[in-house]
Amino acid sequence: KRMKVGVIFGGKSGEHEVSLQSAKSVMDALDPLQYTIVPIGITRDGRWQVGKGAIKALETAKVAESKGTTQSPKNYINSTVGGLTPASTTRSVDMLPPALVNEIDVAIPVLHGTYGEDGSIQGLLELVGVPYVGAGILASAVGLDKIVMKQMFAAVGIPQVRYVAFTRSQWRTNPEELLDLVERQLAYPCFVKPANLGSSVGISKVKSREQLAEAIALAAQYDRKMIVEQGLDVREIEVAVLGNDRPMVSVAGEIIPSNEFYDYEAKYVGGHSKLIIPAELSDEQREKVEHYAVAAFQAIDCSGLARVDFFIERATGRVLVNEINTMPGFTRYSMYPKLWEASGMSYGKLLDHLIQLALERHAERE
Ligand code: ATP
Ligand code: MG
Ligand code: MG
Ligand code: MG
Repeated sequence: KRMKVGVIFGGKSGEHEVSLQSAKSVMDALDPLQYTIVPIGITRDGRWQVGKGAIKALETAKVAESKGTTQSPKNYINSTVGGLTPASTTRSVDMLPPALVNEIDVAIPVLHGTYGEDGSIQGLLELVGVPYVGAGILASAVGLDKIVMKQMFAAVGIPQVRYVAFTRSQWRTNPEELLDLVERQLAYPCFVKPANLGSSVGISKVKSREQLAEAIALAAQYDRKMIVEQGLDVREIEVAVLGNDRPMVSVAGEIIPSNEFYDYEAKYVGGHSKLIIPAELSDEQREKVEHYAVAAFQAIDCSGLARVDFFIERATGRVLVNEINTMPGFTRYSMYPKLWEASGMSYGKLLDHLIQLALERHAERE
């Protein structure tokens, strides 16, 4: 009997579109002799769409939203992302699809960002008792929150960039004091980020106090919490981690962004960024990357998969962990599956492995 796999995609997230792309690749690659696919879409406002037409329905919704107007990528991102911040107040739990509870043997939540990569869908799947691919509630929540993530990394001695973290209300109460604090702690350029997001949404590189203030105001539209990091001149290295209690690490890849940094446009819109696999690293750098990748995975109690993003400072050669992503981009062209391909595991086999890990973890907790 074929296993029924619920592929969950879309979601109330700034990375809704990215999720649709990832999910399409996943559904194309799942072996039809082994699995029956149950597509499960979540619209941008949190409604569920189950069945064959779900991907189409969500894509059509996306087109309808932009009303056929030709918008620049920036405007499009702002308008689509702007719609879900900060209060998506739709209550939709009463519309939970029966398929989620009664039909599927395992779920693949191919959701990025809020309400998908942050532990909320994982909590729902735990409640209904469905095994699912990827990190559990805790690792998802910690991994998506850049501030808590950094605290967990610091606790186990993982090297990172300097940063200052604060809340929206701190910012609104006394902006000048906050700007002073950042300027005392860090030097320009800095990176300003919403704490809980991905795909570089809401992230700015700033070179002056004025830009800093603007960037914080922007980040404050996306999240209650924000972070300002020391900007460094870096090489960007990423590795893929796969496993539960004994995680494996892939070969490393390097990103050559097509823009000044690896922003949303450089990731998805322009498509001119280069991925170099395997990355050229010294033996010592490779060892550090592998060691810290597993340390980062375990520091947040991760399971299934994660992509750990590194910086190598050009001036010093220092290896720093930037972040962990518990549901990294998963299209055929995304770094995560490409790193496994280069390590000898095809996209289809990778999915088999992830499903196996999901079932093992589910059994382990009983
Ligand atoms: P992802 O899509 O990988 O989840 P994200 O939204 O979580 O992305 P980050 O990975 O933190 O964002 O940052 C996005 C990009 O911004 C990095 O890949 C890098 O190009 C640049 N960047 C971020 N922080 C720094 C820094 N401190 N110094 C230099 N460059 C940085
Ligand atoms: Mg990220
Ligand atoms: Mg991400
Ligand atoms: Mg990143």
